[in-house]
Amino acid sequence: MTITGYCVVCKEKQIPMKDAEMTKTSRGGYMAKGICTKCNKTKMCAMMSKDNAEKAMADGEAKKAF
Ligand SMILES: [Zn+2]
Repeated sequence: MTITGYCVVCKEKQIPMKDAEMTKTSRGGYMAKGICTKCNKTKMCAMMSKDNAEKAMADGEAKKAF
Protein backbone atom coordinates (compact mmCIF):
# COMPACT_ATOMS: atom_id res chain seq x y z
CA MET A 1 0.00 0.00 0.00
CA THR A 2 1.35 3.40 -0.92
CA ILE A 3 0.40 6.39 1.13
CA THR A 4 -0.89 9.21 -0.98
CA GLY A 5 -1.87 12.74 -0.17
CA TYR A 6 -2.83 16.09 -1.57
CA CYS A 7 -0.09 18.52 -2.54
CA VAL A 8 -1.03 22.20 -2.25
CA VAL A 9 1.66 23.17 -4.76
CA CYS A 10 0.90 20.57 -7.44
CA LYS A 11 -2.82 20.84 -6.65
CA GLU A 12 -3.20 17.14 -7.17
CA LYS A 13 -4.63 14.41 -5.05
CA GLN A 14 -3.33 10.89 -4.67
CA ILE A 15 0.33 11.74 -5.04
CA PRO A 16 2.57 9.14 -3.40
CA MET A 17 4.33 10.36 -0.29
CA LYS A 18 8.03 10.05 0.39
CA ASP A 19 9.60 9.68 3.85
CA ALA A 20 6.18 9.20 5.35
CA GLU A 21 5.80 9.48 9.09
CA MET A 22 2.72 8.43 10.96
CA THR A 23 1.53 10.79 13.63
CA LYS A 24 -1.55 10.96 15.77
CA THR A 25 -3.84 13.91 16.04
CA SER A 26 -5.05 15.30 19.33
CA ARG A 27 -8.35 13.60 18.64
CA GLY A 28 -6.72 10.21 18.31
CA GLY A 29 -6.88 10.01 14.54
CA TYR A 30 -3.94 8.97 12.42
CA MET A 31 -2.21 11.30 10.05
CA ALA A 32 0.61 10.53 7.67
CA LYS A 33 3.08 13.28 6.86
CA GLY A 34 5.56 13.14 4.05
CA ILE A 35 7.12 14.83 1.07
CA CYS A 36 5.38 15.12 -2.29
CA THR A 37 7.12 12.86 -4.80
CA LYS A 38 6.06 15.05 -7.68
CA CYS A 39 7.67 18.35 -6.72
CA ASN A 40 9.94 16.72 -4.13
CA LYS A 41 9.73 19.53 -1.62
CA THR A 42 6.22 20.12 -0.38
CA LYS A 43 5.19 18.62 2.90
CA MET A 44 1.86 16.99 2.70
CA CYS A 45 -0.32 15.07 5.03
CA ALA A 46 -3.17 12.63 4.80
CA MET A 47 -5.71 11.43 7.30
CA MET A 48 -5.60 7.68 7.70
CA SER A 49 -7.97 5.18 9.18
CA LYS A 50 -6.64 3.16 12.09
CA ASP A 51 -6.48 0.02 9.96
CA ASN A 52 -4.62 1.69 7.13
CA ALA A 53 -2.28 3.48 9.51
CA GLU A 54 -1.33 0.27 11.28
CA LYS A 55 -0.90 -1.55 8.01
CA ALA A 56 1.32 1.21 6.64
CA MET A 57 3.54 1.04 9.71
CA ALA A 58 3.69 -2.75 9.61
CA ASP A 59 4.62 -2.68 5.95
CA GLY A 60 7.29 -0.07 6.52
CA GLU A 61 5.48 2.46 4.35
CA ALA A 62 5.45 4.94 7.19
CA LYS A 63 7.65 5.41 10.20
CA LYS A 64 5.95 5.50 13.53
CA ALA A 65 6.33 9.01 14.87
CA PHE A 66 4.19 9.16 17.98
ZN1 LIG B 1 3.91 18.61 -5.05
